[in-house]
Amino acid sequence: MHVLVTGGAGYIGSHTCLCLLEEGFSVTVIDNFCNSSPEALRRVQALAGRSLTLIKGDVRDAATLDAAFAGPRIDAVIHFAGLKAVGESVAEPMLYYDNNVAGTFNLLQAMQRAKVSTVVFSSSATVYGDPAPEDLPLEETSPTGITHSPYATSKWMVERCLADLHTAQPQWRIARLRYFNPVGAHPSGRIGENPSGTPNNLMPFISQVACGTRPMLSIFGGDYPTHDGTGVRDYIHVMDLAEGHVATLKYLANRPNGDLLTLNLGTGQGCSVLDVVKAFEAASGQTVPYQIVARRPGDVPAYYADSTQAQELLHWKAKRTLHDMCADTWRWQAANPKGYASE
Ligand code: NAD
Ligand code: UDP
Repeated sequence: MHVLVTGGAGYIGSHTCLCLLEEGFSVTVIDNFCNSSPEALRRVQALAGRSLTLIKGDVRDAATLDAAFAGPRIDAVIHFAGLKAVGESVAEPMLYYDNNVAGTFNLLQAMQRAKVSTVVFSSSATVYGDPAPEDLPLEETSPTGITHSPYATSKWMVERCLADLHTAQPQWRIARLRYFNPVGAHPSGRIGENPSGTPNNLMPFISQVACGTRPMLSIFGGDYPTHDGTGVRDYIHVMDLAEGHVATLKYLANRPNGDLLTLNLGTGQGCSVLDVVKAFEAASGQTVPYQIVARRPGDVPAYYADSTQAQELLHWKAKRTLHDMCADTWRWQAANPKGYASE
């Protein structure tokens, strides 16, 4: 099976490309490297001992996509390419609608021209908005669409578009995967998350504090209605997430009459910021100094997944622990203090 992976040089994409190569899939990546480095894919190929095809280009460019589909027959697309910084999306909504929504429409149109109708889309738990405590854990049927940022709205709009496409053309095989909080790195320490500038997300920030790049973690809010007052999320190891994509492709390959799959990919376990700090200190042997500061605007107190649907349908389960997530993040961070620029 030949898979086109958009955004394959990015954090989740690079780990997924590695799993795909290891499982015997042929892989073509399209990436414009707006938030990634080609070094990630060099390392992926070295780890896999196999090569992939790389096209440097933008998913908003129809000619690039048509050229990709004109090559060896593509059986399925995994669509990671997009922008993901929630705060930036508030400041620059048009950039996000252009990249995430128009980029996806362009991709789906190119797929129609090429008669490729299997697609796995990177959605996000942010489509659930601000869930009430009684809505936890979040099921796929929990309400969506009351979103708090253009980023989340862009994911929700694409989800709707994919559902409408499937209604009109039920032979499409579509998976909308709602990721919870991906963290961690490949256990080799060779590939991992490579944020540019100051990390917005918790785990890369903690790891930069642990290695001395930043003096202290600011914990956003200590008075949430959670077990220790700090925000609760469902952290999932990026390798579990990557394996979830492979399982999804295998599932869709056995749906000859089409399908529209909507799945939460999480562990089902909520961990607080302080839980993560303590686990990171234990896994790394480093101290992570922190201070509790004001809540971050737009943050929700807690959300975590009910991921039994994915377990039942895909026969997939997130199996790596919070300790694994921290130990693997630390191995990557310690060996690559400047990310891929360290090389
Ligand atoms: P990432 O930024 O590391 O990877 C995205 C990749 O897409 C990058 O390599 C970037 O260069 C590329 N890209 C962006 N716009 C492009 C375009 N127009 N044309 C071609 N390439 C383009 O992000 P990630 O963490 O790997 O996330 C992958 C996907 O998963 C994104 O769609 C993101 O919104 C979604 N997602 C991520 C998270 C998370 O916390 N990491 C959570 C939920 C959903
Ligand atoms: N967080 C924090 N300090 C940071 C970054 C994040 O306290 O420097 C908290 C944040 O308030 C949330 C949790 O860590 O409770 C996860 O935040 P992240 O941005 O990683 O994910 P998201 O909020 O998108 O789920």
